[in-house]
Amino acid sequence: AKADGRATYRFFEPAMNAAVQARRSLEIDLRRALALKQFSLAFQPQVSLETGTVSGFEALLRWHHPERGPISPATFIPLAEEIGVIVGIGEWALRTACREAASWAQPASIAVNLSPVQFRGGKLVETVTLALAQTGLDPARLELEITEGALLDDTDGVLTVLNGLRGLGVRISMDDFGTGYSSLSYLQKFPFDKIKIDQSFVRGMAGSAECGAIVRAIARLGASLGMRTTAEGVETADQLDAIRAEGCSEVQGYLTGRPMPADQAAALLT
Ligand code: C2E
Ligand code: CA
Ligand code: CA
Ligand code: CA
Repeated sequence: AKADGRATYRFFEPAMNAAVQARRSLEIDLRRALALKQFSLAFQPQVSLETGTVSGFEALLRWHHPERGPISPATFIPLAEEIGVIVGIGEWALRTACREAASWAQPASIAVNLSPVQFRGGKLVETVTLALAQTGLDPARLELEITEGALLDDTDGVLTVLNGLRGLGVRISMDDFGTGYSSLSYLQKFPFDKIKIDQSFVRGMAGSAECGAIVRAIARLGASLGMRTTAEGVETADQLDAIRAEGCSEVQGYLTGRPMPADQAAALLT
């Protein structure tokens, strides 16, 4: 029996080693990526449905790996959160996004994603204060996007941080709304400035009456709570028409603009 066990172990070993090795080498590269200046930000326009113009941009992290090329945030952000380097990377993204926005010809808003991990160190309010001070960005132009993940662990502590951020004059958006377990209770606990309707609902609108009903309900909920609503992932003119009919404040998606380099984003504001 022992010999069989060893044989089985040997059989699986090479494949397991390959996966573990790949993860380990990505982890090593990720730890060095910030110092090696391998990150950049892409900026995706957010378009106001009231004015039809660009009201701001969301900053999205990009990692250009020297050998593997671009690596999706969906791959490296969870890993960066697991090994803790997201805190430093997130600070860099915040500072870089604020600096970029401060250079724009118009006072458009800049939205920056915050990882739940950044809420845990007890330094977030300080970090945001410093980024604003270093870049001179008007706090009213900064929107911080958080997901339910940030609100899950310790509600009181998180509420203290959110109120601290609000106290700086920045705005707070609830990202990926509707995909978690208790989004509604969070709206009751904290007055978000904006709700971002997850792209899964927008994508489903064409084929599913349910998705249309959900988008409509969220748009009304936002309106009655005094929160702006942004529909994410709008790719087609039909989706845009439907979103407009539901009364969302804003759209963000490939139809109105893909994530783009900083210089192109700045050029849209001249
Ligand atoms: P998210 O915050 O929900 O960002 C929106 C994602 O949807 C972006 O993917 C964007 O490129 C994509 N997108 C926008 N419009 C469309 C569309 O019309 N169709 C489709 N199919 N996709 C669209 P991206 O850039 O790959 O980012 C993925 C996720 O990674 C983000 O989702 C966010 O959760 C995370 N992320 C990105 N940058 C940062 C960052 O600086 N910090 C943290 N903590 N997370 C980040
Ligand atoms: Ca986001
Ligand atoms: Ca989102
Ligand atoms: Ca998302």
